[in-house]
Amino acid sequence: MIVDAHTHLLDRGHWPNEWWQWVAEDWASRSPDRTPAAIRDRIEDGLIDPDGTRMIANMDAAGVDLSVVLPIDWGPGFTGTQSIEQVVHHALTLAERHRDRLIPFAGIDPRRHDAEALVETWIGDGAKGLKLYPSCGWDPGSSAARAVYTVAEAHRLPVLFHTGDPLPVLDRARSAPQLLDEVARDYPHMPIWLGHAGAPRWWDEALALATAHENVRLEMSVWIWDDSDTTQQELFLAKVAEALRALGPERILFGTDHVSGSRVRAPGFLSTVTDFYRELPQHLLRHGVRLDDSELADVMGRNALRDLGLDRSDRCGA
Ligand SMILES: [Zn+2]
Repeated sequence: MIVDAHTHLLDRGHWPNEWWQWVAEDWASRSPDRTPAAIRDRIEDGLIDPDGTRMIANMDAAGVDLSVVLPIDWGPGFTGTQSIEQVVHHALTLAERHRDRLIPFAGIDPRRHDAEALVETWIGDGAKGLKLYPSCGWDPGSSAARAVYTVAEAHRLPVLFHTGDPLPVLDRARSAPQLLDEVARDYPHMPIWLGHAGAPRWWDEALALATAHENVRLEMSVWIWDDSDTTQQELFLAKVAEALRALGPERILFGTDHVSGSRVRAPGFLSTVTDFYRELPQHLLRHGVRLDDSELADVMGRNALRDLGLDRSDRCGA
């Protein structure tokens, strides 16, 4: 059972004006004959996958059984998105349609006055975890955030925090894994998935946090990419080897940051990254670490299923 612990499945209006403006200006700066205004309205078409058809096709091609879908709540600092209720509803609806393939999380900005009630509602509607993105402008140690963790922990839901460099329009300082030290200590029954495990600048901090707290997992997306060269591959492998030595195989999660829109990731992205993970046992020998088939199965899916409470569910077979 292969579970991709980090994917995005978008529809129109999920990401804000400020993001599109940034992308348009970035692209225009590299092609002087085009203006941001001319580019801007066409970009979103390449990011969205409204009914999840592309996501499922990519998963089939890569042999990925289940994908964790992570809606983002951009919060009050951004404009032009659908309501967070609509954005989360999209994930819940597609997961209902593709029952054995998609695992819906809910995104929430804890500054929303009804954050806890929204989370409770979404859990009742099928959300299996939370995706939290403090870089959108909130403090992961705040009392509002703690109220959300209390709900998650009561339901034993895993919480994926974005850690490491955020999207360019967001506040990097709030994505430092070390900000989660007290959270990990105070919510010991809430599995904390460190999304991207601090990539690219906070690996040591992410590993230290996971070493200090048994409820912390390293979700490894972004460290390895479909076009990673040999040097980058070896750096990724060295990190996996280091994590295996420090934590064992049960605290590491396969994740890709796959986005299924037609023009976000290169064709074959998911297959290439997934295949590299499948080959971890051979590659890790170069780094002096043995990973047997059962341990690889932990990393590729069993760890995520355990945190999701799906390891014994008939929904996922064995
Ligand atoms: Zn992501």
